[in-house]
Amino acid sequence: MIYTKKQEGIANKIDDLSDISNWKNWKWQLKHAITTLEQFEYLTGIRFDESERKELQETFKIFPLSITPYYLSLIHKENFRNDPVFKQAFGSVQELTTLNSEHSDPLSEEKDSPVEGITHRYPDRVLFHVSNLCAMYCRHCTRKRKVGDDSYIPSMSQMQKGIEYIKNTPQVRDVLLSGGDPFMLPDEMIDWLLSEITAIPHVEVVRIGTRIPVVLPYRVTDKLVSILKKYQPLWINTHFNHPNELTCSSREALAMLADGGFPLGNQSVLLADVNDCPRIMRNLVHKLAQNRVRPYYLYQCDLSEGLSHFRTPVGKGIEIMESLVGHTSGFARPTYVIDAPGGGGKIPVMPNYIISWSTNKVVLRNYEGVITTYREPDSYEAKNCDRDCDHCTLDLNIREADKMEAIGIEKLLSNDNDTVSLIPENNERLQRRYDNE
Ligand SMILES: *Cc1c(COP(=O)(O)O)cnc(C)c1O
Ligand code: SF4
Repeated sequence: MIYTKKQEGIANKIDDLSDISNWKNWKWQLKHAITTLEQFEYLTGIRFDESERKELQETFKIFPLSITPYYLSLIHKENFRNDPVFKQAFGSVQELTTLNSEHSDPLSEEKDSPVEGITHRYPDRVLFHVSNLCAMYCRHCTRKRKVGDDSYIPSMSQMQKGIEYIKNTPQVRDVLLSGGDPFMLPDEMIDWLLSEITAIPHVEVVRIGTRIPVVLPYRVTDKLVSILKKYQPLWINTHFNHPNELTCSSREALAMLADGGFPLGNQSVLLADVNDCPRIMRNLVHKLAQNRVRPYYLYQCDLSEGLSHFRTPVGKGIEIMESLVGHTSGFARPTYVIDAPGGGGKIPVMPNYIISWSTNKVVLRNYEGVITTYREPDSYEAKNCDRDCDHCTLDLNIREADKMEAIGIEKLLSNDNDTVSLIPENNERLQRRYDNE
């Protein structure tokens, strides 16, 4: 039940002397990660012809290969070219194609980085890259250029810079640990890092983004869980893309984390020929919900270099959302987002549900295509909230709440503000105006 025949076969081929019990040792898994084409062929029995081998070798020189024996064992060898696990793990010569629209840092994470390791993009939260290591190099990784490039664990003094930044930036209430994979750090380092961050008074929550439950579930040990438990509230987000990834072992890891009391979320990437199908996605979100993981985001594939063969039109994502909204449990439905190229952050996209609007009625449609109307109040005096908090007469206990300054569209909506438009920098028409003055 716990090991499959295939896993036993792979373990024996890797190490004649080892017995299968090593399989569940995460360090053994990492030590025996598959990093060459030869190893892959030997362990799977899959053979590529000479010309393809050559091209693959070229690909791996630029984007290195690294697959855990566990994740390798999930590949269906008979139909590997259509296998979602194979496609995420092994890569393709198409990775060498680079389009003009692609970049090595499409989200400008480095430009929004005040100190090494930190991306501070949103007002109240930061992304903290605490590890350059990953258990597996996902072929669709947004940070593809960096992964495997400088595979090292940042030293404590390097991490200290990030911690100092958070300490000195009181508006940061949410710290998202990412990488690489934070769970690739040794237990003691995770313990130290979490103790440092959670000791900062203004940090209310810490989140960990990890692919460990998917590609190396044995890393989730009792010891790890007992360390994490000391630092509640801790949220954990994982990265399942396909129902085939929810194996006995990965479900066990998820159960350990859920029993540890950590709210679990999942961030999937929409990938052509891997999960770009409403039925697969529905199956995935249902399986996640059964395992106490709430689908959080569905990402449109980023414009990173070498990902063109993975990208779908945005319409595919909308189509998938159309098949989830209303059709299944609300909590099993992720938010579909496009991470804005250039660093604008995640932008949610949805099918349109508002069909029309008058001064007192909204015409909406539901998931079945039923068109309905919502009657709005005949009179509504917009005095209740106008962001003019100093003169507000409502008893909202506002003293307790954070003061917030309206920005962006929020600012346009507020009446307590002179801003009537937001104008892009270097607007030509306005430039002419200034020139004429
Ligand atoms: C995704 C992301 C976050 C977290 O965003 P949420 O929408 O709160 O999950 C924070 N910082 C950066 C740079 C991110 O990319
Ligand atoms: S685990 Fe995440 S950071 Fe690491 S290779 Fe996969 S997608 Fe990239």
